[in-house]
Amino acid sequence: MSNGKNSSGKAGGGAGKAASAGRDFIRAIIDEHNRTGRYDGRVHTRFPPEPNGYLHIGHAKSICLNFGIAAEYGGLCNLRFDDTNPSKEEVEYVESIKEDVRWLGFDWEDREYYASDYFEQLYGYAVELVKMGKAYVCDLSSDEVREQRGTLTEPGRESPYRNRSIEENLDLFERMRAGEFRTGARTLRAKIDMTSPNINMRDPVTCRIMHSSHHRTGDQWCIYPMYDFAHCCSDSIERITHSICTLEFEDHRPLYDWYLEELGIFHSQQIEFARLNLTYTVLSKRKLLLLVEGGYVSGWDDPLMPTISGLRRRGYTPESIRDFCNRIGVAKNDTRVSIDLLAHCLREDLNKQAPRVMAVLRPLKVVIDNYPDDAIEDMEAVNNPEDPSMGTRMLPFSREIYIERDDFREDPPKKFFRLAPGREVRLKHAYFITCIDVVKDTKTGEVTELRCTYDHETRSGDAPDGRKVKGTLHWVSAKHSITATVRLYDHLFAKENPDDVGKGEDFKDFLNPNALEELKGCRLEPGLARAGSVDRFQFLRHGYFCVDSRDSTEGAPVFNRIVPLRDSWAKIEKKQRS
Ligand code: ATP
Ligand code: MG
Repeated sequence: MSNGKNSSGKAGGGAGKAASAGRDFIRAIIDEHNRTGRYDGRVHTRFPPEPNGYLHIGHAKSICLNFGIAAEYGGLCNLRFDDTNPSKEEVEYVESIKEDVRWLGFDWEDREYYASDYFEQLYGYAVELVKMGKAYVCDLSSDEVREQRGTLTEPGRESPYRNRSIEENLDLFERMRAGEFRTGARTLRAKIDMTSPNINMRDPVTCRIMHSSHHRTGDQWCIYPMYDFAHCCSDSIERITHSICTLEFEDHRPLYDWYLEELGIFHSQQIEFARLNLTYTVLSKRKLLLLVEGGYVSGWDDPLMPTISGLRRRGYTPESIRDFCNRIGVAKNDTRVSIDLLAHCLREDLNKQAPRVMAVLRPLKVVIDNYPDDAIEDMEAVNNPEDPSMGTRMLPFSREIYIERDDFREDPPKKFFRLAPGREVRLKHAYFITCIDVVKDTKTGEVTELRCTYDHETRSGDAPDGRKVKGTLHWVSAKHSITATVRLYDHLFAKENPDDVGKGEDFKDFLNPNALEELKGCRLEPGLARAGSVDRFQFLRHGYFCVDSRDSTEGAPVFNRIVPLRDSWAKIEKKQRS
């Protein structure tokens, strides 16, 4: 695929908007390369996940950036699994990563690569370094290596094995590969400079011995390349032009360049940008894994998780995530983005497309005394006032309905305009009703039922005599509505920056004990019985909801609230404008 047309095909959904995100320092570097002809105008990026966990929204930023830039410049983007550490990696993660990237709307076509496919080639490069006198076999343990590496203020000390002959190094390295030595007994180290101010350049380990099975290469190898060595060489093998990574690799760039320079192979340009951090959550696979393994969440796809699979199950759309990634842009300094912005992007997307429906989450029964016992009327309801083309639907109305328990107060405070004894309100898409009696449980005093009357003349939503009501309530017909479980979510963490842990604290201490509220026996309008896994709805006055793909069963649906309606981000934006 030399013209890259296909890559802009599917990727276009996200990338079209990326172009409007404007120029940033990464695109400026690419423009400069295109001007000078460094890569003959070619742009080839890669997304390189390590398959040791599920992807999170931070990875989405990297995916949108890599695939987006490729599409924008008519280039290509590879999916490469950075699978050089056999101890933590699993096939399950590989599959989930592919599903997530696809779901976000990006296509790597036939360019699915694995660093493990390059092990033989990497071994060859390592042998070349040895032959050039640029690498040596070191017998120090990892603790000793660390101890002799020095500090920011102190130079490191040279290994006593640093000056082994090339012949001896070649012999030992071959025997390392052959499995003659135990795990950790020896390493291959690059021979650079133990006094370098950059600690990464102080004879870093290139390959280590690890007698573990790899999820793809099985027991074929017992030496594995270190990240810094494998990554630059993989980029070079794939002829990646721009190797975009997060800021913590800035200090590794001299080493990235050193390997490619010494080997004299294709030289990709590493470019670093600030990783995404979000308020009220953590974006680290290691920490997310601890939450999964410790049972603090129900799995990687728990709707509370900031993982792509969690957001998908929660009901987020790929469009809203791509929009979010484009809005935050790329920068060189680490910040923490408000999670409200993500919610805002979702609302903007769903406000346009989600049909409005009525759902009573905490039902209170209302009997309309003067309504005929067996009558059923179809009331017409608009599906989306923002978009008349979405049409209308019919809602059954009958003598017994449910309203929201919160919409009734026996002793209404000031400014409570909803239902109260003797008060008249409007039922959305139906009649005015007046509360004439309150039925209570004789033992507990709890209100169990309201008796009301309706005014037949108000079917249009207004009274012919012009009298006004201040409240409009949503409702469902008791005998037609379906019963469902509804889950409401708050932030996963109660603390804005849960990565900020003091002495003796653990990030898990800040988990929000009220993150999930589950409501059983909710009553929803009948049409929701047909809700499919990709449908999203606005439950009037409650927010946006979707069916939970995992826990819903036939006849017992579970709905997730994706976001409530209240939009604090829109308020912030409005304030900033004025
Ligand atoms: P974590 O710190 O969560 O374990 P990682 O960097 O180890 O993430 P990788 O699988 O190595 O995870 O990441 C794949 C790509 O995604 C890398 O290029 C990495 O820089 C990028 N990436 C990871 N986390 C973020 C983030 N929070 N924001 C932006 N990009 C990220
Ligand atoms: Mg990593």
